[in-house]
Amino acid sequence: MKTLPLDQMARLGKHQIPPGGGFRFRCHPGISCFNRCCRNLNLFLYPYDVLRLKNRLGLTSGEFIERHADLVLRPSQHFPDVLLRMAHNPEHTCPFLGAAGCDVYADRPDACRSFPVEYGLVFAGPHAPPRTVAFFRPPEFCRGQDEDQFWTLETWGADQQAQAHHRMTRRWGELRALFQEDPWEGRGPDAPKGKMAFMATYNVDAFREFVFQSSFLARYRVPEAHLAAARGDDQALLELGFEWVKVFLGHRPSDLIRLR
Ligand code: SF4
Ligand code: SF4
Repeated sequence: MKTLPLDQMARLGKHQIPPGGGFRFRCHPGISCFNRCCRNLNLFLYPYDVLRLKNRLGLTSGEFIERHADLVLRPSQHFPDVLLRMAHNPEHTCPFLGAAGCDVYADRPDACRSFPVEYGLVFAGPHAPPRTVAFFRPPEFCRGQDEDQFWTLETWGADQQAQAHHRMTRRWGELRALFQEDPWEGRGPDAPKGKMAFMATYNVDAFREFVFQSSFLARYRVPEAHLAAARGDDQALLELGFEWVKVFLGHRPSDLIRLR
């Protein structure tokens, strides 16, 4: 989920799905373009995507990032994008594309669940809550757009079982917006604070060690019930990671975590 500046909104405006609106689309195995959308992609992975995929594959977060992701720091950005690394074959297929379709279907990333809808966050002001906007932008080759089945964003999200991904991606989008203004004070995301933020959001296995095996709990107060959940549940731990980054960057108070 990207943060969209207002000029980009104007450019994408004609594709926007208005509140209460929808789109016509159907994808099915018999369609002529089946799986064509699973190759040569700039597929953004958000923290919850990594969590679901690494558990699906039986890897640690670190192993998953090492094997399957490229970290790309774009000019004027202060936090790397995490992109799924395509396979080294002539078509640059997604590494999870198998003979019968997506091999990780139940744990596929948010972008795959949303496709051909794209979501973005628009911030009206520094303290205003962001607004989610949605665009229907299938590529020209995607013949699903010729079909007649009508979806609202809600029915499409439910059909794709995307609610948990959308919820976590939106939270990530809100947190990531805080990185727009160089929170590392000119030292870059590879400086200690930037590395800690990456660890807390993209490496829940390392963050779990940090929470439970360092002086973290002597310094921060976390409700017992959430701590108990975070010991065994990666999503609860990731939620704690998101809140901790907000607190340690000094940007926002949190109901979940505060300094002792
Ligand atoms: S290109 Fe469109 S219709 Fe074709 S398989 Fe992908 S999502 Fe479905
Ligand atoms: S994760 Fe699955 S749905 Fe997404 S691009 Fe790869 S094969 Fe396609």
